[in-house]
Order: sequence, then structure tokens, then C-alpha cells
Amino acid sequence: MNKVYLDNAATTAVSPEVLEAMLPYFTQIFGNASSIHSTGRDAHRAVDAARKQVAAAIGALPQEIYFTAGGSESDNWAIKGAALAKKDKGNHIITSSIEHHAVLHTCQWLEKQGFEVTYLPVDEYGRVRIEDVEKAVTDKTILITIMAANNEIGTIEPIAEIGKLAREKGILFHTDAVQAIGAVPIDVNAMNIDLLSMSGHKFHGPKGVGALYIRKGVKIGQYMHGGAQERNQRAGTENLAGIVGMGKAIEIAVQNLEANSQRMTALRDKLITGILKEIPDVRLNGHPTERLPNNVNVSVRYIEGEALLLRLDLAGIAGSSGSACTSGSLDPSHVLLAIGLPHEIAHGSLRLSLGTDSTEEDVDFVLDKLPGIIKSLRDMSPLNFYNQTLNSSCPIDHDHGHMDEDDE
Ligand SMILES: *Cc1c(COP(=O)(O)O)cnc(C)c1O
Repeated sequence: MNKVYLDNAATTAVSPEVLEAMLPYFTQIFGNASSIHSTGRDAHRAVDAARKQVAAAIGALPQEIYFTAGGSESDNWAIKGAALAKKDKGNHIITSSIEHHAVLHTCQWLEKQGFEVTYLPVDEYGRVRIEDVEKAVTDKTILITIMAANNEIGTIEPIAEIGKLAREKGILFHTDAVQAIGAVPIDVNAMNIDLLSMSGHKFHGPKGVGALYIRKGVKIGQYMHGGAQERNQRAGTENLAGIVGMGKAIEIAVQNLEANSQRMTALRDKLITGILKEIPDVRLNGHPTERLPNNVNVSVRYIEGEALLLRLDLAGIAGSSGSACTSGSLDPSHVLLAIGLPHEIAHGSLRLSLGTDSTEEDVDFVLDKLPGIIKSLRDMSPLNFYNQTLNSSCPIDHDHGHMDEDDE
């Protein structure tokens, strides 16, 4: 069966070149990077080389890069570390309401420890307004943490403007750039970024490895206690092969950024245009142009996102629901609610995210299958029945009591 993977915002395949670069570091150059012997020194050199590759990708110095176990750890370290380091100066943190849970839940935890957090609203496209950031700043504000690009709806945030404001006010600025790396150019100096999180597996590198950029001179303290790895800031034997893979992957991603971005933007727009043309009652979520080149997110009225995903899966298409319905939780996505969608519409959402390995055939395949799948789901949907009997242009209200979650 034809298999089309369009869930690259969740994770990407390790590219063949990356895998090849990693392999020797499992069985041949497997030393502990802290060891004195030559195998250890070889490992150390490999970590240093990867550190240079990661630094170069964001305009940083190698000594400003600290390897972690992924984007979530980097977010936790940056935010908790900054909060603790600055707590004598103030207790106020500014973030947005559409951050990844690694940021939101960390901020919520800090609230329980006595910090105050402002969760900024976003506009209908998911953009934070710079005026809102400015208004939220108080003399107690110690950290602004706003993502570079959103993982659900692909909206790119005005981080250069936010960074400039933060710098002027003397406030630390952290950005979760997990989705932006390799997709849009990032320069930590031009953008006045003090702390930046990234994750290897979102740009065709391996899972379980990430990095935190900490601007030289910014002190946020040690997060993981133990050995003296990562210049005594992050304990734990280095994930050697993972780090090598991440270095290789980011180097490739940044080298090919322009070409990949153009190619993916064309595929993305073909997908969006095709969906909006072929399927009635569908809306695009996120910004039409200030948007990740690989992200498509649409709300499909009168259907339930999970049912759609299962049907797509049967057809060989891997997508993701706009709603973060994990097992047991049917809460719609906080991001879709934040851009103003009613619960029902947020529930019927679909994210398709391209990878650098996606092809025009993939897009054509989706455009061939999706309209029929949606039509058949709608034909048996109770929501559609309501629509027809009420004969109203907008039958959906904010009470989702009539949603049948077990529809499919
Ligand atoms: C995937 C993702 C993360 C988490 O990264 P992990 O490496 O999976 O822990 C954090 N932020 C954003 C925006 C993401 O897309």
C-alpha cells in the first residue's frame, strides 16, 4: 500500500546521511567523552564537532551550546533555570497561550512555586502582538518565553521584535525554536535571543537529543546535577551517537534551508489550495503566509478529528489531529481554542506536516483520497444531520454535549 507520512511536526525520519554519520559511534568510537584514553578523546572530539555544527546553524558560539535530551528538557532547563537565577529581581514571567506543553506546564509548575505568569492571547492567526508583550511587562518581569513557530498551526511568531523589546527592557528572552530550526532562518544575535531550545528529531535527526543555547554571560544555573559534563552545567554521560546525528542533521537542514523551504512551501500551498477547493466547509487555521513551509492545519466542519485520522491511516496517510486528544482526554487543542475556534470546530481539525522527503506524489495522493473520506464521514455524522435539519449556516454552538465521540 502507498504510505504517505505527513506528521513531520510530531517527528521526522532520521535521514540516511545522518544515520551513516551516527553508526560508528555505537560500536567503534563508543568512548565516554570524559575519559582520558584515545577512544574517550575521539568521542570528545565528535561532541565538539557537533557543538560547532549546532552553533553555526543559529549564529552562536560553540561554548554557548549545551546538549540535552531533547526539546522538552531544554524548555524546562531554560525556564526553571532563568526563574531561579532571577528570583531576587522579580517573579513575573511572560509567555503565550499557544506554547508547547513543555513550556506551558513548566510555567504552571512555577506558578505553584510562587511565580506569576502572564499567558498572552494571540490574534486569529495565532500571532502574539508585540503591544501585548509590551503592556504585560512590569518591573518584576524576569523572563519572556515565546515560541519561534507553533507546532500545531505553523504560525511564525515575531521573535525578532520580541527579542528587541526584551533586550531594551533588560529581560531574558527564551524561545522554543523546536519547529523553526531548519525551516526558517534563526540568528540568536540579530534576534536578541538569550536562550533557545531545539530538538534533533524535528529536523531529520535522532530522538532523545536536543540542545539549549545559553548566551555567553547569561547565568541560569545547573539543571541536571551529577558529573561535570557540558562544562558542569548538565550532568550525564553524553548521548554520543545522538549528538553526532543532531550535528549532522542541523548542518544539512541549514545548508538546504532555502531550497527545502521553497519546495515545501509550494507543496504546502498546493495541499491547502486543493483542500479548500475540493472540500466544502473547511477553514485554514494559522497564518496564510507567516507560516512554517511544512504546515497545513485545517478545520473540517461536521466531523470528528480522530475519526478522520483513523480513516486516513487506513488509506495509508499519517496525519495528526489538531486536537491534542490523548487517550482519556478529549479536550480540544489549547492552540485552536486560543485562535478563537469553538470546541466543535477545534475537534474536527487535521494537521498535515511535510518533511524534506515529502513529494508532489504524496500531496496528490492526499488530494485524491481526502475529499472522499470526508464526504463519507459527513454522510454518517450526527453533526451533519443537525446541519441539514436546522438548515442553518452555522448550527454549531459552544455546547458540545451533542458531539458523539464514538462516532467512528
Ligand atoms: C516537539 C516539540 C517539543 C518537544 O521536543 P522533544 O524533543 O520531543 O522533547 C517542544 N516544543 C515544540 C514546539 C515541539 O514541536
